[in-house]
Amino acid sequence: MKRLIAVATLVAFGLTTAVPAVAEDGTCKETSTFALVLHGGFLGSEDDVEPRHYALMRELVEQGRASLERGVAGLDVVVEAIASMEDSGIMDAGKGSIVNTAGFTETDASLMEGKTGRSGAVAAMQRLKNPIRAARLVMERTPHVLFVGPTGEKTLIDLGAESVEDPNGYFQEYVPPAKGAPETKRDHGTVGAVVLDRCGNLAAGTSTGGWPGKMPGRVGDSPIVGASTFANARYALSATGKGEYFINRGATRDIAARAEYQEIPLQTAADFVVKHLIGERDGAEGAVIAISREADIVLSSNGLGVLYGYASDSRSVTVGGKLD
Ligand code: ASP
Repeated sequence: MKRLIAVATLVAFGLTTAVPAVAEDGTCKETSTFALVLHGGFLGSEDDVEPRHYALMRELVEQGRASLERGVAGLDVVVEAIASMEDSGIMDAGKGSIVNTAGFTETDASLMEGKTGRSGAVAAMQRLKNPIRAARLVMERTPHVLFVGPTGEKTLIDLGAESVEDPNGYFQEYVPPAKGAPETKRDHGTVGAVVLDRCGNLAAGTSTGGWPGKMPGRVGDSPIVGASTFANARYALSATGKGEYFINRGATRDIAARAEYQEIPLQTAADFVVKHLIGERDGAEGAVIAISREADIVLSSNGLGVLYGYASDSRSVTVGGKLD
């Protein structure tokens, strides 16, 4: 009896979480609702995006949508989508990462799981093939949340993270065909993903080579939970833009907190932080993608826009760049 009352009390206060029905093959079809949003970075100008960026985005959203429909876990969809963008060589993440002012590549990435609040991240990595997979390894195989630099990298490689033999040969900063002069090189997109799966679980991840012109050893917001990547039981978010400002503002955690505590729409909270605080007050560029447990899809940018793609159980695959 006491137990029944306790459970009823928990339910009344919304403190219980449904136990999701995870099948033996690891899939979950607890509800029919699912959604995903991917981003391919803040747009400095319209020239930043070529047809193949849109094509990649479309292909990955289609794949992610099909996986979610089958009941694949959100965390897996986030990692696979980001790893594909890292491998594409046409984004500022993984293979296509920019080089720093000393001429070599250092990558950052993070991953967060909403239902458990667990996270994993890597920063200033020089040899990892897929920083997002290494971030997952940090989350699942170590008691820590963030590994940095060559020492952290060695630990993760020893734990099984895939590395590249010849970083200088592997990492090829992506340069748009119409351009080419070093001074016009810019990031072709930090990448990120936010997903709501059919168990109602939210997950978010971000991966980058960093902001152009960064000094050796500089770490941006992409591996910082609460700055770029954030997920809890209600929201999942991933940011792109001038990382220093997203760190100082604790941007994605702030958006989630505003939406929850002020009981305002996630879009309103995202616009306030991205457009007003980071855009108008700080004079910095940036964008955020986000998703809620109700499958609201949110895109917010203070500049031209962000390369994005999204889909859900009820929305077809949509890809775009410019935002209002
Ligand atoms: N936020 C990333 C950083 O500051 C860069 C980007 O999103 O383009 O490293």
